[in-house]
Amino acid sequence: MLPEVSSLWLLQLLRDIQLTQFYRPILEELNVTRPEHFDFVRPEDLDGIGMGRPAQRRLTEALKRHRSGLKSKNWVYKILGGFASDQKETTPLSNSPPCPPESEGGLKCLIPEGAVCRGELLGSGCFGVVHQGLWMLPSGHSVPVAVKSLRVGPEGPVGARLGDFLREVSVMMNLEHPHVLRLHGLVLGQPLQMVMELAPLGSLHARLTAPAPTRPLAMSLLCLFLQQLAGAMTYLAARGLVHRDLATRNLLLASPRTIKVADFGLVRPLGGARGRYVMGGPRPIPYAWCAPESLRQGVFSTASDVWMFGVTLWEMFSGGEEPWAGIPPYLILHRLEKDRARLPRPLLCSRALYALALHCWAPHPDDRPAFSYLEGLLQEARPPEGHCVKDVTEPGALRMELGDPITIIEGSPFSHSPDSTIWKGQNGKTFRVGSFPASAVTVAGWPATHPVHRSSPPHGEYHQGNTKGDKAKMKHQALPPARGQRRNMPLPRTKGISKSLESVLSLGPRPTGGGSSPPELRHARAVPEVPSILPPHPPFASSSSQSRQPPKVRPPWPKREPPHNYPVGAAGTSKVTVPSRGLLDPDLQRKVTEVALSVHGVTHQECHTALRATGGDVVSAIQNLKVDQLFHLSSRSKADCRHILEHYQWNLSAASRYVLARP
Ligand code: AMP
Repeated sequence: MLPEVSSLWLLQLLRDIQLTQFYRPILEELNVTRPEHFDFVRPEDLDGIGMGRPAQRRLTEALKRHRSGLKSKNWVYKILGGFASDQKETTPLSNSPPCPPESEGGLKCLIPEGAVCRGELLGSGCFGVVHQGLWMLPSGHSVPVAVKSLRVGPEGPVGARLGDFLREVSVMMNLEHPHVLRLHGLVLGQPLQMVMELAPLGSLHARLTAPAPTRPLAMSLLCLFLQQLAGAMTYLAARGLVHRDLATRNLLLASPRTIKVADFGLVRPLGGARGRYVMGGPRPIPYAWCAPESLRQGVFSTASDVWMFGVTLWEMFSGGEEPWAGIPPYLILHRLEKDRARLPRPLLCSRALYALALHCWAPHPDDRPAFSYLEGLLQEARPPEGHCVKDVTEPGALRMELGDPITIIEGSPFSHSPDSTIWKGQNGKTFRVGSFPASAVTVAGWPATHPVHRSSPPHGEYHQGNTKGDKAKMKHQALPPARGQRRNMPLPRTKGISKSLESVLSLGPRPTGGGSSPPELRHARAVPEVPSILPPHPPFASSSSQSRQPPKVRPPWPKREPPHNYPVGAAGTSKVTVPSRGLLDPDLQRKVTEVALSVHGVTHQECHTALRATGGDVVSAIQNLKVDQLFHLSSRSKADCRHILEHYQWNLSAASRYVLARP
């Protein structure tokens, strides 16, 4: 008979003191199922099941120790127990290293603490640190593993963090796919540890951004990764799970040509007929990867995972760049919805793949392709592979030698455009990207192309590690307008916002009278509450004043600092720059800093100008800058913006929410 999950604590406790032989008698004869039941167990009862007095003393000591750590452990059993009852599959994962004999049946995933030793630190996530480790099997064999340990604060693990950790365990326990990271088991120690398959090459994001001399990844390999990812996501979707954190940082390289989806901390089951998960409260989400409906209403579904797949594709082909870098979360939603902006086509991305990404970014979730369909689309969009049939050495052209494998990014023998004799591609030997005469490459199954009769050399050759200027030049050439995207409005590529999980929900509450805001938006943390009752229509929106306004010419986006209330530990939380000393008098310098700290996203130059305009009055300068920010965010007049800000007691986040909700 297998031990019950709800009595794991007893087995673990008895195992620690080498008294496992009393597990069944204690459970079945004494009916002890919870630690507090021992309060009613007398020494004679223990005598009755054959436990000697020295063993009883060991048990008493162990119980005391257990109770002192009970507060946190209760969480574990409660949550694990709850999950265990939901689990449909409890069979061991095939191909997994065999579990120790004592951890069979219901305990398949429990690994004794002493069987795992931790080594080098591999990384850290939002609720744990990950070490490389070795798992010693009873057979004497050892398996290299990754060990994720729950981060524990002075008062024990934080509830939400522990919940996510255990949820990750319970989800991973039931997954078995070649491109999903495998969980070997759980160590019920202090701290709790998840023992996982080791991905020795780390995250795909780290690989994409690795500096020279690490070679960039070949396009053909990126396409293979996309296929693997789509396969894994088809599998997760079929199991009714939504990942919610699809990004290259969560794709691990198990081998040079194999990725595995990892980090299941945000995974949730899809519920209801509509197959959605709606967030029940403010929690951090990776806003730059999120679909508009997730940002606006906290709604996640397989379709929102498909949106994230598109962003992950974009990351892969842009060398691990950060999507929407430098744009504050509330503006991302604005740009996606109001401007219908989309991330631009990366240098390495063919038009066909970019079209696929745009498909994933369809505004309406129903219009996005299913993962299973995406697998087929990816196959079709795969850039053709050819090889070089004559050396190319012309200056400015992509260099290639006879026999070099060439991936065609742009170009087709079937095209009748004047440019059809110049193709763009990647040399699979040098990993350089550039343009070359079509006649230099053959692709199996394609008709031969005509020789080139151009006097001027083709466009330049680019390497993934090239300067930003080169990249920008190439991007400019290649950038097609996305659906509804305005030309000549390239996204700012400013640095500074963390790639880590950030909360768009931390931007401040929306007015509660609007009706459409989800609870988590209304109860965003760390932001003072705004007046709770608002009239159904804004008292300050005067359409006449709006219509009198001349059309606004928006300035180029200023370099933005991240919003103020990012989760602790996020990069960029204290990035307000200080003006160079000596140029300003100390009083003005102090005022500039004060203004800069109060209005997020403004430069010191802007603060300085604003202070000059108000004769050094800090409060007025802050208010004017906020009005300016809101003005540029909305189509309202400055007077309206001032009104709205006054209404929200100069809380820019809340005011921004308000105007964005009513474009
Ligand atoms: P996570 O908490 O899952 O976000 O993991 C934090 C970091 O640890 C990741 O970004 C990886 O670099 C690393 N990591 C996590 N799991 C593994 C694993 N199974 N093998 C190798 N590295 C890992």
